Amino acid sequence: LSDFHKPGENPQIKPELKEQHLAFTKGMVYTRFPPEPNGYLHIGHVKAIMIDFGYAKFHGGRTYLRYDDTNPEAEEGRYFQSILETVRWLGFEPWKITYSSDNFDKLYELAVELTRRGKAYVCTCDAEKMKEDRGMGKGHPVACEHRDRPIEESLREFERMKNGEYKEQGACLRMKMNLESGNPYMWDMVAYRVKLAPHHRTADKWKIYPTYDFTHCLCDSIENISHSLCTTEFIPARESYEWLCDALEVYKARQYEFARLNLQGTFLSKRKIARLVRNGLVKDWDDPRLYTIIALRRRGIPPGALLSFVAELGVTTSESVTEIQKFESVIRKYLEESAPRLMMVLNPVKLVIENVSDDYRVPVQVPLHPKVPAMGTVETSFTKEVYIDADDFREVDSPDYFRLAPGKSVGLFKAPFPVTCTSFSTDPATGKVTEIRCRLEDSGTAKKAKAYIQWVNAPEAVKIDEVRYFKPLFKSDPPPPDFESDVNPDSLEVYKNAVIEPAFYELAKKAISDARKESEERTIKAKAAAAAPSSEHSPAAGSEAAK
Ligand code: ATP
Ligand code: MG
Ligand code: MG
Repeated sequence: LSDFHKPGENPQIKPELKEQHLAFTKGMVYTRFPPEPNGYLHIGHVKAIMIDFGYAKFHGGRTYLRYDDTNPEAEEGRYFQSILETVRWLGFEPWKITYSSDNFDKLYELAVELTRRGKAYVCTCDAEKMKEDRGMGKGHPVACEHRDRPIEESLREFERMKNGEYKEQGACLRMKMNLESGNPYMWDMVAYRVKLAPHHRTADKWKIYPTYDFTHCLCDSIENISHSLCTTEFIPARESYEWLCDALEVYKARQYEFARLNLQGTFLSKRKIARLVRNGLVKDWDDPRLYTIIALRRRGIPPGALLSFVAELGVTTSESVTEIQKFESVIRKYLEESAPRLMMVLNPVKLVIENVSDDYRVPVQVPLHPKVPAMGTVETSFTKEVYIDADDFREVDSPDYFRLAPGKSVGLFKAPFPVTCTSFSTDPATGKVTEIRCRLEDSGTAKKAKAYIQWVNAPEAVKIDEVRYFKPLFKSDPPPPDFESDVNPDSLEVYKNAVIEPAFYELAKKAISDARKESEERTIKAKAAAAAPSSEHSPAAGSEAAK
């Protein structure tokens, strides 16, 4: 971050605008996290949140959560709410919550002003013609017949657009930029378009809505953002960002870019995820096969683990794709010391021990963590009948197989002695193994087992209605553009007969309720911290921290 300017020292700003800006910020860092409320946040947003909030926090500055709500069709109330909840869950609290739509009146005035200055015009070319004129494919743009129309005419037509006299796509306001430029972002970008859909917050007040390119830099300006942090695909857009602020002679924030977070084998795009949800290819936005934050949270990944994953990746401008294994290993390392290990059998087969009496019962202490004794143990019993997983038994043995097979011994995790298979029965209809009979080796003859398998004491086993086991959602890496057809139908495996020990069952239930409680407390704490007057927010402390 070495080339970041110090607060208030953006060299590109005119002195009088700089003064105005400093009068507001007192030299503090101001950033914003500006999601479009068209979906739930994904893991890429964790990076953006950490950078936007983290950079300001480090410098004793402030961060807005700004809903970039200029596209009425895609917005839904639940997205707005979830975005705020997610920011808080990650441990950040916005200094202020704003909406691009708060500025619709002001943005409209600025668009009129831009037109008055001869730097915008109303264009009524159809989409096809506009695309052609913008040189798509040819690489150089051509001016359309509206570009040099009189200012008064554009002002009048813009007024008509505002009054709903145009159909959608019937007219737009375009910025009169620089058609000679080599940068397509300078080729008379659209500033306003007609949209007849009602807006989440302004209802049907507006028939015209500003584009991202018109809105973003001006909202940054209005909010006195000192560092406008965004992803590298906006590097070419920086020229138009600055062009518009300069054309209107308003305060201009400095834009800095960082590389997007990309994950192997999946995509991070709200629009594409929305398509999967809409087409029923995943259950909902929190389907554990997705990399939305609500899905990761549902998988039991704590916020600290996500933060440490993103922190390990670091911040650069070079584009890269992170392997899923890297993600999983960071999460695993984070949880390694704190996550208890439970015994559960997904596909149970009954194992009967022949050489013990019906009331045979030995108490067994199962440690909750093999390397963290402080985590304690859970008590269960080892009796004549236990369940093991069908996958841990083979009807035909082989030398490289170390689990259970006819004539072979295996250890049952933490049970006193190994067992040796004497016989088994199968269901004649399905051919599936229905029961395995074993001999318990006593202390005299028992050799140390080569392998240990999980088991659940049969008389006390708690049946789990449904266990869902998730595998990668897509068959290809990366998923193709028509990713719907690449969804792996077997990426969700459902087990209907799984069993677990009662003690483990209680523990799992408690872990879930603790996690819920913890996340609620986190939210309350984050809110309280934001409400409390803090010395961190004073300009003096801000500049101290910046040092
Ligand atoms: P999507 O394509 O998922 O809709 P977006 O790029 O349109 O995302 P928004 O949600 O509108 O982004 O923007 C919120 C902020 O998050 C932006 O500053 C954006 O650059 C950033 N962001 C979005 N995706 C990523 C990502 N994969 N890695 C890092 N930052 C991201
Ligand atoms: Mg977007
Ligand atoms: Mg996008």
